[in-house]
Amino acid sequence: MFKTILLPIDLGEESSWSKALPVAVLHARHNGGNLCVLTVIPGVGENIVRTYFPPGFTERAMAQAESDMEAFRAAHVPSDVPSKSLVRNGTIYDEILAVADEIGADLIVMASHRPALRDYLLGPNAARVVRHAKQSVLVVRD
Ligand code: ADP
Repeated sequence: MFKTILLPIDLGEESSWSKALPVAVLHARHNGGNLCVLTVIPGVGENIVRTYFPPGFTERAMAQAESDMEAFRAAHVPSDVPSKSLVRNGTIYDEILAVADEIGADLIVMASHRPALRDYLLGPNAARVVRHAKQSVLVVRD
């Protein structure tokens, strides 16, 4: 049923994948599908904030994230599940929605929020993805 599964993760936040990754792997295996693991480097924008970052900051951050994501995939995604990793730069939820369309995803699997923010049922990115995605979204709760 679900053949192409998108798992957006925050590389610096283990709770964004610790429970969601096994669920994504289960669905990929069950459907003979594939898994795309995505991380987004938040954009620093075009305003005054950008001037506080050294030249080439975004390019270096992207290159580092690409190698970190490959290491993540090798360490955590079982080798029997076809997978790839992607890194994007920009607004997190916009990039998740755009990549889901680009890769022809039919399921997005994501954690609801960081455990520290217990007052919220859905974090800001999860909420926007649930609201705007054309695909099915499976929110893995803590
Ligand atoms: P919180 O602010 O509590 O972390 P979010 O809505 O940002 O809530 O996080 C929920 C989910 O959003 C994460 O589990 C992950 O799937 C996705 N997400 C958050 N940050 C990123 C990121 N930088 N890149 C890709 N996905 C992210």
